[in-house]
Amino acid sequence: MRLFDTYTKSLVEVPPPPGPVRMYFCGPTVYARAHIGNARPFVLGMWLRSWLRARGYEVTLVHNITDINDKIYDAAPGASAELARRATEWYFADTSALGLGMPDAMPKVTDHVPEIVRFIGELVDSGHAYPVEGDVYFRVASFPEYGRLSGQRPDQVEEQEPNALKEDPRDFALWKANKQGEDTAWDSPWGRGRPGWHIECSVLAEELLGPSFEIHGGGLDLVFPHHENELAQSRSLGHPFAHIWAHNGMLRFTGEKMSKSVGNIATIRETLDEWGRETILVFFLGGHWRKPIDFSPETMAQAAAQAESFRNGRRAGAAGDRRARRVAAASAGRARVRRGRPAPGRDRGGRLGATGRARWPQPRPQAVTGELVYGRRAVREALRGRREVLELWATERAVGAEPWLAEAKPKQRPERDLSELAGNRDHQGVVARVEPYRYADAYELAAVERPLLAVLDRVRSAAAPRGPARPA
Ligand SMILES: [Zn+2]
Repeated sequence: MRLFDTYTKSLVEVPPPPGPVRMYFCGPTVYARAHIGNARPFVLGMWLRSWLRARGYEVTLVHNITDINDKIYDAAPGASAELARRATEWYFADTSALGLGMPDAMPKVTDHVPEIVRFIGELVDSGHAYPVEGDVYFRVASFPEYGRLSGQRPDQVEEQEPNALKEDPRDFALWKANKQGEDTAWDSPWGRGRPGWHIECSVLAEELLGPSFEIHGGGLDLVFPHHENELAQSRSLGHPFAHIWAHNGMLRFTGEKMSKSVGNIATIRETLDEWGRETILVFFLGGHWRKPIDFSPETMAQAAAQAESFRNGRRAGAAGDRRARRVAAASAGRARVRRGRPAPGRDRGGRLGATGRARWPQPRPQAVTGELVYGRRAVREALRGRREVLELWATERAVGAEPWLAEAKPKQRPERDLSELAGNRDHQGVVARVEPYRYADAYELAAVERPLLAVLDRVRSAAAPRGPARPA
């Protein structure tokens, strides 16, 4: 298996199984509910771990929690530690609700300050760092490789952290003297203060994975300065550090990169509440690792429809037939995608059958109210499936435009009633309440011990034009 490496700008081979593959993925700064963009490196890290494990690798994934940071001091003056603690719990809760399991370690910076102080001490002793009035800076000129990861010439590297006391505008802080308004501080040989952001990842990665590990992940926005600085800190001490830098593309909100400094932010929690974890996972599945993905009501509605159509594909192979399920559960444990001519009355799309090594995921308890499905594609998929449609509502206009909808004889309702039912205006004039699924959803499949990995490039909607299926 090969991964694109930002450092060499080439595909780099991952060592053969069983590895080990040790991975470090930069985690969130905890000062608010994490936004949906933060979920992308988390999801990719968890998927990569599952995929590698399923192939016999010994994998360890470390995902850090930045609980010392200017943003936390700014967000909760006088109570930064309490906010960081609460926001860490939110992050655990929100990411675990995605149903992919959790990383092997999620170290917090506050639990590792003595190790960070020791590491900075080594950099000072070896001439790669210098103290100035309670701060300690990394001496960029001492590391000739600097700039290579981010593709900058060493003499043209962007200035960071302006401060007249630095030897060189390129130098960056490893330790910051305690300032007014910062309500947490730790002792160090250079006075009371706290670690900088970049040093934490060098130290946490090496503490948990050792001085040499296989994969470093994180968003492309972290390449400079964060990862450039991590690399300089560790390699200037002679530690090999990460072998592959696997950066993911950013999540853009209506075309703009999401960050909390701009408005229009959706948190993971809000997105879970509005769309559910399956839709979120299908949304992330649809994006190439290094490319940006656009988050908007339209792209999420599309993902919801795709999720619905995948369920129908699965149902054609497995649902409703308990005997088939028992047979599947008894057969040996490898996920498989079944293809072939669909039986009459079944979806023309690919049929997915899967087993989770004698551990077929148990059906989840059923809600009595049924599930709300809306949008023309999603409802059409629901009608084509085998779930009972409990209620179906549509606007006169939608009925006029969609013959399949007219055939289903929906109750006609005005637009605003449908918006109220759906809870938003993305229903395209059609809303249905359908019987809940009686079988595992994508969440459960992803959570089984031997995870299902389905290649979805043959699944297509019968409504789509003929031709090659879109890779998913
Ligand atoms: Zn980091």
